[in-house]
Amino acid sequence: MKLKKKITCPTCGKKETWTLANPFRPFCSERCKLIDLGEWAAEKHRVPGEEVNLESDSEDKEV
Ligand SMILES: [Zn+2]
Repeated sequence: MKLKKKITCPTCGKKETWTLANPFRPFCSERCKLIDLGEWAAEKHRVPGEEVNLESDSEDKEV
């Protein structure tokens, strides 16, 4: 009996079967992996609900 785990690709949201043969997991393909890595590098990923406004904060302290 083989266990098949479904994963959701973080890049495109496509449901994929997790296999050890997939070197791109948790992504569905190399393309999605590269896209995700590229977005991290470009700081397009933001943590939702945690907006820190450092600029206005430091302005207040200097005045
Ligand atoms: Zn994908």
